[in-house]
Amino acid sequence: MLHGIGVSRGVAIGKAHIILRGSIEVLESAVPPGLIEQEVERYLSALESARLQLISIRDRIPGRARADIAIFIDTHLLMLKDATITNTPVELIREKGCNAEWALKLQRDAVIEVFEQMNDPYLRSRKDDVDHVINRIQRILQATAQGEVSAGDSLQGSIVLTDDLTPAETVMIEHQGTSAFATEYGGPLSHSAILARSVQLPAIVGVRGIQHYIHDGDEIILDGHQGVLIADPDERLLEHYRERQRREIQRRDELARLAQTPAITLDRVPIRLMANIELPEDIEALNRENTTGIGLYRTEFLFMNRAQPPDEEEQYVCYTGVIEALKGKPLTIRTLDMGADKEVDGSSSGQRCGNNPALGLRAIRLCLKDLSLFCPQLRAILRASCHGPVRIMIPMLSNTHEIRQILGLIEEAKRSLQRDGLSYDPQVQVGGMIEIPAAAISARAFANQLDFLSIGTNDLIQYTLAIDRVDDEVNYLYDPLHPAVLKLIRMVIEAGDSAGIPVAMCGEMAGDPDYTCLLLGMGLTEFSMHHTALQEVKRVINQSSIAELTPKVEALLQSEDSDRILAQLEVINSSLS
Ligand code: PEP
Ligand code: MG
Repeated sequence: MLHGIGVSRGVAIGKAHIILRGSIEVLESAVPPGLIEQEVERYLSALESARLQLISIRDRIPGRARADIAIFIDTHLLMLKDATITNTPVELIREKGCNAEWALKLQRDAVIEVFEQMNDPYLRSRKDDVDHVINRIQRILQATAQGEVSAGDSLQGSIVLTDDLTPAETVMIEHQGTSAFATEYGGPLSHSAILARSVQLPAIVGVRGIQHYIHDGDEIILDGHQGVLIADPDERLLEHYRERQRREIQRRDELARLAQTPAITLDRVPIRLMANIELPEDIEALNRENTTGIGLYRTEFLFMNRAQPPDEEEQYVCYTGVIEALKGKPLTIRTLDMGADKEVDGSSSGQRCGNNPALGLRAIRLCLKDLSLFCPQLRAILRASCHGPVRIMIPMLSNTHEIRQILGLIEEAKRSLQRDGLSYDPQVQVGGMIEIPAAAISARAFANQLDFLSIGTNDLIQYTLAIDRVDDEVNYLYDPLHPAVLKLIRMVIEAGDSAGIPVAMCGEMAGDPDYTCLLLGMGLTEFSMHHTALQEVKRVINQSSIAELTPKVEALLQSEDSDRILAQLEVINSSLS
């Protein structure tokens, strides 16, 4: 049994198909001055071949595959056009008089170092994409085979075992019928892992020494939930996993059918299930899930990886596109939440954040300090509001003074639009995220000034328990069931109820089905989450009765001990009808 990290759930049983390419060895060699330009040409022609390879892979993506799959390949195509790959290695060849492979290796090491220093785990793991693109070019330069599965191969029912998979290869193997894959390298946030989850291909990463234990054609079991590969399984084990597969298929069918049914508890309480999105492209996947709308649109992704922030017009066009794609369902646009874990290239927020970025000038604090960022966004959201239902949501509020200031700025933005003869929806609702313990404790005052509240548990837990959410060393302390966290959540729900305004939750806790009963029993009726979690959470909702849950959760909340709370919650979860 080999262990790795399960990154995409599900079980597969099949024959191993091993694709091992080994590491690429790059040696430095001097190029005589007279041949430098020829070396530069060799490099540029390798770039062109890499581009053509990717285009050909993209063209082979089956029609049924989702648009986001092509986006991963487009990302690699864009990287091939980036100056870090097109210009710098060429300059290095000329400056150092070295071979193209060596120049590319030097540039790779420099770029990877920048990625390694990033705080945000998602952005940090983009270094895998850099390596995938650079390895592709290196293989072309060294004229070694890509080791890619060729288009004609059938992988029907096989389990691909490899050192690493590019997103393009992930698309190919899925298309060719593979039933799962395991890699030696890569992490849970790699694009291949994200892709595997979105196409529901069981997958494990970080399985070391595959080739020493498993041979091509061996019968193996891959368990993407537990993160294990089992070689040479006996009949008893095979039967156990076949049974798990049957249950898994049943569960998927059930979840797919659920997309068509409303989220409503057994005692007929309708629950609003909304989705969190980061990019306008996410809408496409959402439309199949039948959501009530978008509960959190993280607009900072529009500001990332560029030297200048998008202007009002660009934002207006982008928000309008999302609103139109939603066809009348409400869109909650969160104003820029920049700083701390969300670095935005080309901004000066990094320098402004000081030693404790999470406690520094981030999110609404930064926007109120830099109105040239905030006001164009407010105007853009207001203008977009004439195209469909829109709500404005403010991140990281800590006091009511900020709220007054923001409401004043929104009024000012409306007046300026009137002066410019531009229309907007005068009824646009303004809500706030409750992410700071002080905001939760003062939620009544917040609720009196706002149209809705949304609990951002990712930050609320970070600030309540004083654990940096991007610091792996303190990850183990991250505990949504900490009694202090639960008390704060409850305060916010109660504050919303007594002010008569809706309260949603849009942090990760909302999308974890293990907490659904707990939150329902606490009185939460609006959940917003990543779209892949929607049906799972709906399944729990549709099997729950609020009237039954309320006293049980009430009893659980009396406990001051996380372990006891967890034990009680497990009993509640297992008693679902
Ligand atoms: C949160 O903090 O829970 C949240 C939803 O916002 P983000 O994860 O973008 O900080
Ligand atoms: Mg947050």
